[in-house]
Amino acid sequence: MSLNDHWMQRDLAVLWHPCTQMKDHEQLPLVPIKRGEGVWLEDFDGKRYLDAVSSWWVNVFGHANPRINQRIKDQVDQLEHVILAGFSHAPVVELSERLVKMTPAGLDRVFYADNGSSCIEVALKMSFHYWLNVGQPAKKRFITLSNSYHGETVAAMSVGDVSLFTDTYKALLLDTLKVPSPDCFYRPEGMGWEEHSRAMFAHMEQCLAEHHREVAAVIVEPLIQGAGGMRMYHPIYLRLLREACDRYGVHLIHDEIAVGFGRTGTMFACEQAGIRPDFLCLSKALTGGYLPLAACLTTDTIYQAFYDDYSTLRAFLHSHSYTGNPLACAAALATLDIFEQDGVIEANRQLAARMASATAHLADHPHVAEVRQTGMALAVEMVQDKASKTAYPWQERRGLKVYQHALQRGALLRPLGSVVYFLPPYVITPEQIDFLAEVASEGIDIATRQSVSVALPSGARVDFRDPG
Ligand SMILES: *Cc1c(COP(=O)(O)O)cnc(C)c1O
Repeated sequence: MSLNDHWMQRDLAVLWHPCTQMKDHEQLPLVPIKRGEGVWLEDFDGKRYLDAVSSWWVNVFGHANPRINQRIKDQVDQLEHVILAGFSHAPVVELSERLVKMTPAGLDRVFYADNGSSCIEVALKMSFHYWLNVGQPAKKRFITLSNSYHGETVAAMSVGDVSLFTDTYKALLLDTLKVPSPDCFYRPEGMGWEEHSRAMFAHMEQCLAEHHREVAAVIVEPLIQGAGGMRMYHPIYLRLLREACDRYGVHLIHDEIAVGFGRTGTMFACEQAGIRPDFLCLSKALTGGYLPLAACLTTDTIYQAFYDDYSTLRAFLHSHSYTGNPLACAAALATLDIFEQDGVIEANRQLAARMASATAHLADHPHVAEVRQTGMALAVEMVQDKASKTAYPWQERRGLKVYQHALQRGALLRPLGSVVYFLPPYVITPEQIDFLAEVASEGIDIATRQSVSVALPSGARVDFRDPG
């Protein structure tokens, strides 16, 4: 038995994997990873895979990055963890100072959670609680965009709209208001991104006009709807939204959990719209992809509405055990150092241009509806019919074919449905980008050439995070 098989069998005897129909692993080998280095992951049999999805969008400076490793090693000998209520520590103070300084002016307070979904819960609860504290208890609903994704906990699912994630749990969800997304994939022929995103804002304007008295906040994934298939829109939408939220007295929550830290081409997506949200949710790349940590930044206005004598019961009594963990903060500080010292955002422009040129030919593929890009995120959408942009039936799992081909070739490409995308660590080289483009092209050829017989039992579901 190979070492891979050995670990796979031990794993499958005891683990229940995230976002996975475990029965798939009767056919689809699990890949046990022994070590990582830079963009590479290496399995127990010595085969290497280029991590094109940054291990679920978290890694930015490669696996086993020496600078982040060292910072964590130093920290673990000092202090591994301490309660953050009543106590504090240097890494969390330093990190908070730096986040306040690097985000848009006015985001002056940092509240920590230990994963992205919890961070969304924090923002939703804070917004609702703010309106309660200022005597507007009617403002308790949230406006969300169609095709959005904000995490897996119940309230985070409520403001999400990727039906494969949420349909099953509908009975548990909050009652939210859903507005059509400015997603430019379905823009009319010949229309630009800006014009389309601007036109789609009419739906939001109407919803706010109608419901603002009962609405606490609008929540959006700025510029890229990630789990919804890397769908993209123009920053003008965020500018119009900020202006309307001000006009109607509604908070704006930016979920930059996936897009923060350089993914869209600027450090934060909100910079491209020149706006400041009322809540900015950060996680994923915050620690360079090392450790779970999330930060919810907000304004002094919101902070002050909670600041009062204890007996008024206005405090935000929310906590997670690992809030502000020192090791995670140390990893985050090392990550921010690399951004600062290495001119990463500027250097990424070259890499983004290479991603574009290496995949440009795919736009002519008979089963590719679109190759789209925002900064360091590039997506290729496979369709059954190019002219009408008709999707493949999800049961055919075309993306899975690309995933399997890429594994053979030594790349980790994990499509979202029929959307093949690159979201690589920023330490990728131009040559490695060319390699990924080659693997993706081959995979797309294979996946779209075959007529697929659907072997899945009826009612089987494929999650969007699934390679299906
Ligand atoms: C991943 C993600 C989340 C959830 O973060 P977790 O750490 O996985 O809970 C929320 N919002 C967006 C936009 C994400 O991509």
